[in-house]
Amino acid sequence: MCRAPVNQFLPMSLVDGPGNRCAIFFQGCNLNCSFCHNPETIKIIHSEEENDDIKFYSVDELFEKVKKIRPFIVGITTSGGECTIHHKFLIQFFKKIKTLNLNILVDTNGLIDLSNENMKELVELTDGFMLDIKALEESSHKRITGSSNKTVLKNMHYLAKLGKLEEIRTVLMSGEDNLKIVDTITKELSPYLKIKNIRYKLISYRPFGVRSEFSDLHSVSDNEKEYLKTVAQKNGFTDIVLI
Ligand code: SF4
Repeated sequence: MCRAPVNQFLPMSLVDGPGNRCAIFFQGCNLNCSFCHNPETIKIIHSEEENDDIKFYSVDELFEKVKKIRPFIVGITTSGGECTIHHKFLIQFFKKIKTLNLNILVDTNGLIDLSNENMKELVELTDGFMLDIKALEESSHKRITGSSNKTVLKNMHYLAKLGKLEEIRTVLMSGEDNLKIVDTITKELSPYLKIKNIRYKLISYRPFGVRSEFSDLHSVSDNEKEYLKTVAQKNGFTDIVLI
């Protein structure tokens, strides 16, 4: 039987996509970001390591939890860690969720190539993806996350073309060329906005709880954030959220 580890089940959330949603945070991640604020969700664990904080669920068990709260939510969002590492579980789970007529969003770091044949069904079942663009330059992405961003950028175009890119997010850190990131990304995505509106969340870097080599960094000023917003607007984005 297909089972997956869940770190947190939030019956109702107003910050994980539009409307009141159930947010499910799966355990385990395929990245190791230096500024991860949920490092406890990174470790990939096996069923014998289940504990009070991390529970393994079957598809039916997790479905029943969502079914109980169906009247109060408009959709579900799966997150992590990195939920797409559990794609076989998600495919079965989403098939059942569809019977409840709920909207399905997936929050992802984009490290798994979603155009792969084995991910096709997951993409079809998902209404929208929320994708982290952690850096533009490969060297910066490797420094921040330990991995290349080639697949992340490939996924960004792939999902936008399909009309399945709900939201992109960038953490604004001092020392990074934030103007180049925002300008380049919004220019590249601009042609797809006529297929589907894409929200861009520009998130202030917060140095609390990060690794020591990143604790001296800080976010950009409010003025710079406002300026970056105008850059995204100039490139056609209308839904920009500053956090
Ligand atoms: S992708 Fe997210 S959960 Fe995974 S290490 Fe990076 S910040 Fe943490």
